[in-house]
Amino acid sequence: MKLYSTNNPILEVDFKEAVFNSLPQDKGLYMPHAIPRLDDVFISNIGQYTLPEIAFMVARNVLQGAIPDFDLHTIINDAINFPAPVVALEDGSYVLELFHGPSLAFKDFGARFMSRVMSYFLEEGEKELHVLVATSGDTGGAVALGFLGVAGTKVTILYPKGKVSPVQELQLTTNGHNIHAIEVDGTFDDCQALVKQAFTDATLNEKFRLTSANSINISRLIPQTFYYFNAWSQLRRLGKTEVIFSVPSGNFGNIGAGLLAWKMGLPVKQFIAATNANDTVPVFLESGVYQAKPSVQTWSNAMDVGNPSNWVRIMNLFNNDRDALKDLVTGYKFGDDETVSAIEQIFAANNYVACPHTAIAWLGVQRWKETYAGENAAMVFLSTAHPCKFPDVFKGEIASAVEIPEQVKELEGKPKQAISLPADFEAFKRYLLEN
Ligand SMILES: *Cc1c(COP(=O)(O)O)cnc(C)c1O
Repeated sequence: MKLYSTNNPILEVDFKEAVFNSLPQDKGLYMPHAIPRLDDVFISNIGQYTLPEIAFMVARNVLQGAIPDFDLHTIINDAINFPAPVVALEDGSYVLELFHGPSLAFKDFGARFMSRVMSYFLEEGEKELHVLVATSGDTGGAVALGFLGVAGTKVTILYPKGKVSPVQELQLTTNGHNIHAIEVDGTFDDCQALVKQAFTDATLNEKFRLTSANSINISRLIPQTFYYFNAWSQLRRLGKTEVIFSVPSGNFGNIGAGLLAWKMGLPVKQFIAATNANDTVPVFLESGVYQAKPSVQTWSNAMDVGNPSNWVRIMNLFNNDRDALKDLVTGYKFGDDETVSAIEQIFAANNYVACPHTAIAWLGVQRWKETYAGENAAMVFLSTAHPCKFPDVFKGEIASAVEIPEQVKELEGKPKQAISLPADFEAFKRYLLEN
């Protein structure tokens, strides 16, 4: 497998280099030179296969031998060890539940696969890999639990003090082993600035082999294609012949993976890019003007992104042709009031609690159905996180209906292990050098 940079189409790096670099030097994003189509027979018979089987076939198709079959098999079986069911709701739509992994968010797919791929590529005697990650909540949990116990790696997570939910904090701070949490007296932006500065610091780079685990790493994107194929497999078993996916979008990695799956031959009628008030992409699709803007805070805070980092990849996939993209991708935006009301409607009609991000994807389905009456395709909205991660959003009856999964029960009662630091680079640097 060879990859190029979106800023330099003639660049050629192999998968290992792309995984460890995360970003090319020219600040573009890595894209595969070839995105081969999967065998038509496999796609027609997809209903026969399990998620790990599908994941293996899809990964093998795109990696093109970058990881030998035997090792890829081991990585997949270890990383993708939880289900991603499509659940039919009373209102006729389907929810693709992506929150059954250890951190209860879809980011587990990317983080678990990436950690095992990195560990696989670390050669005997190579310097330990030190992963630095800033989080506003979900990414840190997925990365922490994804790398927990993975040989040859050490993770340092920075999170803003008092600004993550109790479940998220448990996931970040109760791991021990190779996972270290720093509670920063500041905002998410402060955390991110500290991490960015660390990557440019000569002393730190000399001492450690630093890497970032952010969502632009190509090894996080590839495993997210698996669950689109697996959803189609489940729908085929239900006799469905067409599918529309509604994806709650922030950095556009999730929907980007869906589009990669489409490129590999997954028959998708339409993708809906559903956003909150951070509507840079819906505005672009409508007007043709891409205007990055500062993010605004919403209930669906994992989607509070004003300049989605994966957007360049999507444009690249369509040769920057907005019209071609618009044939396949529709953008809708929804406000906080609509989100809260959607959570209530979903609960009233289905006795189902959706997290605020998931509710936005459901709204995407409703808007589509209002616009195109008589739509026959299966309408699938992606549920990106378990509602228990966002307790502040729910009230009364809905709050009481939120079930606490085993993964959380196991964490409760474990002692919090976190270092407190001010939002100050010298203090952060001293900590890294001394620990
Ligand atoms: C990260 C995240 C999103 C946004 O996904 P992107 O790939 O950044 O578009 C949506 N919902 C939840 C719960 C998330 O954690």
